[in-house]
Amino acid sequence: MKIRKNDTVLVIAGKDRGKKGKVRFAYPKEQKLLVEGINFIKKHSKARGQARQAGIIDLEAPIHVSDVMLFCDKCNHPTRIGFRLLEDGRKVRICQSCREVID
Ligand SMILES: [Zn+2]
Repeated sequence: MKIRKNDTVLVIAGKDRGKKGKVRFAYPKEQKLLVEGINFIKKHSKARGQARQAGIIDLEAPIHVSDVMLFCDKCNHPTRIGFRLLEDGRKVRICQSCREVID
């Protein structure tokens, strides 16, 4: 998957369109990302023992990778991701806008 943990992404679809957040988890199999502060859902929880409170809690839910774009902090733009092969054989991601190496 092109987007990874700790990347900053911009949401381009859905109710959180236009918001930015940091990727907390990536789920390559599902092609989904859990992004900080994005896609809150309300979940009912029942009190179980003393540690948990009953009521409605806000939880972040994973969103599909096609609903976000990588946000490049070098050129400050949402961007598509390209790849470059380094001389030592490593493949790194690059920003398609400013051509800077992302990782
Ligand atoms: Zn850039």
